[in-house]
Amino acid sequence: MDSYKHILLAVDFYENNNVVVNRAQDLVNKYQAKLSIIHVVDNMPIADTGYGADIPFNIDLTTELMASAKKSLIKMGEKLAVTEDRQWLEMGSPKLEIIRVANENGVDLIVVGSHGRHGLALLLGSTANGVLHHATCDVLAVRLQDN
Ligand code: AMP
Repeated sequence: MDSYKHILLAVDFYENNNVVVNRAQDLVNKYQAKLSIIHVVDNMPIADTGYGADIPFNIDLTTELMASAKKSLIKMGEKLAVTEDRQWLEMGSPKLEIIRVANENGVDLIVVGSHGRHGLALLLGSTANGVLHHATCDVLAVRLQDN
């Protein structure tokens, strides 16, 4: 492969994501590639107790989370000149949704941060790790320094 044509940037809207966003933007410019962005609202149950009572995922909270994620995604889209048809807001497991959207849209490079919310103490966060292991295209894990 001599150039990337479609880059998917996975964003978690964490403060340190500027480095990841900038790197994706650099690659888009370098390869004159199309850019898509994705954010996944994690639908892990709020609590799975040891005594058999699963507290169900709160539907109002979900609506709230989706609405505020949508606003952030639109803002990011404006910043990066990514039109709404290439802004993906999904719900579910971040790694699985990132891979699904990449596969279904001919993405040839996924850009993630090395760690974010879930991986501060890790070399590689769980999302980055999962994407690296399961993606069928190239993955760039942009190294983030610990804060
Ligand atoms: P983490 O696995 O939380 O340490 O995050 C590592 C990287 O995965 C982040 O820097 C983002 O690029 C990406 N990521 C994490 N969570 C999400 C999410 N919910 N939606 C999209 N990308 C995510």
